[in-house]
Amino acid sequence: MQENKIHKTICSYCGVGCGIDVSVDNKGTIAVTGDQDYPVNKGMLCSKGMNLNYVAQDTTDRILYPEMRYSRNHPMQRVSWDTAFKRAAGVFKSIIEKHGPNSVGFYVSGQCLTEEYYLVNKLTKGFIGTNNIDTNSRLCMSSAVVGYKKTVGEDSVPIAYADIELADCFLIAGANPAWCHPILFRRIEKHKEENPDIKIIVVDPRKTQTCASADLHLQILPGTDVILFNAIARCLIDKKKIDKKFIKQHTVNFEACKESAYQLSVRQAAEKCGIPAEDIRRAAKYIGDASGFISMWTMGLNQSIIGVDKNVSLFNLSLLTGQIGKPGSGPFSLTGQPNAMGGREVGGMASLLAAHKDLENPEHRKEVSNFWGGKEIQAAPGYTATEMFDALDKGDLKAIWVICTNPVVSMPNAKKIERALKNASFVVVQDISHNSETAAYADLLLPAAGWLEKEGTMTNSERRISYLPKVIDAPGEALPDAEILWKFAQAMDYGGFDYESASEVYDEHCLLTKGTKIDISGLSYDRLKEEGSFQWPVPHRTHPGTPRLFEDKTFYTGDKKAHFNAPKNIYNKSEETNTEFPLILNTGRVRDQWHTRTKTGKVNRLLTHIPQPYLEMNKVDAYLRQLKEGDIAVVKSRRGEVQVKVKINYDIRESVVFLPMHWGKILNNDFGRANNLTSELVDPISKEPDFKYCAVQVAKFTKK
Ligand code: SF4
Repeated sequence: MQENKIHKTICSYCGVGCGIDVSVDNKGTIAVTGDQDYPVNKGMLCSKGMNLNYVAQDTTDRILYPEMRYSRNHPMQRVSWDTAFKRAAGVFKSIIEKHGPNSVGFYVSGQCLTEEYYLVNKLTKGFIGTNNIDTNSRLCMSSAVVGYKKTVGEDSVPIAYADIELADCFLIAGANPAWCHPILFRRIEKHKEENPDIKIIVVDPRKTQTCASADLHLQILPGTDVILFNAIARCLIDKKKIDKKFIKQHTVNFEACKESAYQLSVRQAAEKCGIPAEDIRRAAKYIGDASGFISMWTMGLNQSIIGVDKNVSLFNLSLLTGQIGKPGSGPFSLTGQPNAMGGREVGGMASLLAAHKDLENPEHRKEVSNFWGGKEIQAAPGYTATEMFDALDKGDLKAIWVICTNPVVSMPNAKKIERALKNASFVVVQDISHNSETAAYADLLLPAAGWLEKEGTMTNSERRISYLPKVIDAPGEALPDAEILWKFAQAMDYGGFDYESASEVYDEHCLLTKGTKIDISGLSYDRLKEEGSFQWPVPHRTHPGTPRLFEDKTFYTGDKKAHFNAPKNIYNKSEETNTEFPLILNTGRVRDQWHTRTKTGKVNRLLTHIPQPYLEMNKVDAYLRQLKEGDIAVVKSRRGEVQVKVKINYDIRESVVFLPMHWGKILNNDFGRANNLTSELVDPISKEPDFKYCAVQVAKFTKK
């Protein structure tokens, strides 16, 4: 390998997708800096990205060779790859033969590269013959996916990051980009510094770091987002701040939106939201006066039992004002993971089909199965994330293959996930690190290559596809995830998996998109390496990519119009509080940790920011429970309990508490493990869990 060469790659953490220059010196020391030429971050990196070299360098926790046990009573032992593939294929074949294809499932991750995502979908839907392939993106973006489909006809983020600098009003709802999408937020801050008149509205039950830049913070009661967005819609209609021409020519269902918006007066809505009516009117004025309006959101809207309703009611604001398909405007969901968007392109969910084709469409299913040359694709969606672990718990699903994710910490009602994995007949865990709590439940543990150790592509939140090169060799016997998958498929005796490189997988994926809305048949590894990143669609070899969608006001719906949708529920139907469980628990992220800390948890520098989990609570709630800053509290829900230190302030509303979601088992206890508490309720359409709302009680910890 050439020493000190600069390798251009992409950060492996969040969906912003920053460009990184990597170099390796002659002692093997890795250095990372922000890529000055990359359009996303222009040289900037946040604390997590800046410290990626430590993660890539440290192999002490890595899984170095396949490990296996023949029964749960036996310890894991080192085996060869050949033995591992034979065992995996043998068990899968025998379970499928005995219980049918729907008795097995794959649970993967938005951190998988597109090629890996493509292969696991082809393997599952096209050859095993089940749609039981779901992803942790279900916990993150599935409500937004449904929202886009219902509004513009396709899961298509319409804007580019470059629109940020062209906008003059931002509505940031249920997101804390100052901590969770820092480089994107830095672009908004800089834009505001240079243009102080632009308006930033933040909607969040907590006063987060993002609020520091806000002109208006709407500190609503948890779960009242739809009521707020409807009230803003009503103000826009009342004040005639809507784009009548756009609505008439390019949309349908305006009356349904209006009817929904007029269910409550602005004053009634303000009471339900727990904010002044004047603030709602002010937000509407900012939006109505804007020449470029961008709405941004993430888990606060998506992770809800009414996540789809929250999405469509927010989309309605862009349609009312005609703020879509033009510079500096549009609805813009922020993806949590680096390749959540790439996963969606290859149909990486139990309810989706490759190349944004529709699972419910028999013609589409036929096209894809003919292309793959495998089995007929089932029409019914497979198990979604929570359903998959439910089925495992009940014994309906016998075997699960977990790739690059840690459901024991990240899924709601974590104790049930542990029980489900214990009940499973066969668990395969394919990951880079022993730090994953899920690895402890594996019957077969497969060592995967990590960031910098394999090549592939990812797509960020603005549909930008980038190539990630292999820079260093993987430690031990670890293999790229794509290679593990195609070798397993070969061991299952499936045809169509005789790949020799990830590039062949990518070419196949690109070809399958030909003629679709996400057509990237103009891309190849060579083009990405030579010309840099592209935003889809890229339908031919000289096409420059598509930064902004819908500029001709032609949408992807059957009638080519954007669709207003009346939310089905304006009221939140989450778990109710009562005298026993009087507080609402909200969960989320902190600045320097990522997901379940399998990577960031081992970087000392990142632990200096927030080293431990904490329960944020209002001073009044703390006083009522005789809790002081730093005291240990016991938090209980209807499902479990945790102990955690309290952090007291007035930044969070009374009756609401907040617990970060990152921490799992520390020192073999459950200190601050948020998902011991969370509920398994999901949005009925998107099946995204309700992580932001469950009823809890909090009391001071006393030694028994
Ligand atoms: Fe990585 Fe996201 Fe930070 Fe950029 S903003 S460096 S993509 S974690």
